[in-house]
Amino acid sequence: MRMNWQALQQSVAGCTACPLAKTRTRTVFGVGDPHSDWLFVGEAPGAEEDAQGEPFVGQAGKLLDNMLAAIALKRGNNVCIANVVKCRPPDNRNPETGEMAACAPYLTRQIELIRPRLIVALGRVAAQRLLATGNTIASLRGKLHQHQGIPLMVTYHPAYLLRNLPDKARAWEDLCLAVKTMQDLKSTEPPEDT
Ligand code: URA
Ligand code: SF4
Repeated sequence: MRMNWQALQQSVAGCTACPLAKTRTRTVFGVGDPHSDWLFVGEAPGAEEDAQGEPFVGQAGKLLDNMLAAIALKRGNNVCIANVVKCRPPDNRNPETGEMAACAPYLTRQIELIRPRLIVALGRVAAQRLLATGNTIASLRGKLHQHQGIPLMVTYHPAYLLRNLPDKARAWEDLCLAVKTMQDLKSTEPPEDT
């Protein structure tokens, strides 16, 4: 896949590469500009996202926006947000392996074009997919990983945090670590000439 950002967006909008194409209302490409330092990756659109065509605009999305605000970030402002699959799985089930595989080239290309300084995987599905592991969030968080040669960190999915409030403190630790990691990355890497 050698598409530019616009061609990639168009390709996703018309994609029928997996069965989720039949049940979606709208594809959800992602939000934010392709020069962002940060990329947050969730698993799949839910009902609100399917209706609006934008990731994380439902309940979990409100929490994600608050999490971003807590570390002085804002969607669309040096922050890209995308999902592992671009179409809503029916009844909000997890995306199946075959669906994730069919959709993977899009996120791979998004990451190639954005070249974020840091990827934050939100929740088990995204973390396990991007790290090609079966390990738990508990064992993956708090460490610096890599995906496509880009530093990646793992934290809880905001939808999970809505149901498990005590883990919010851990998510806060993860976000603070991510901010510190970003500062370190910025001080050790020369700025991109894009
Ligand atoms: N959950 C996700 O993983 N992604 C969204 O876009 C919304 C909810
Ligand atoms: Fe295409 Fe991905 Fe949507 Fe499947 S989920 S139809 S692969 S865009």
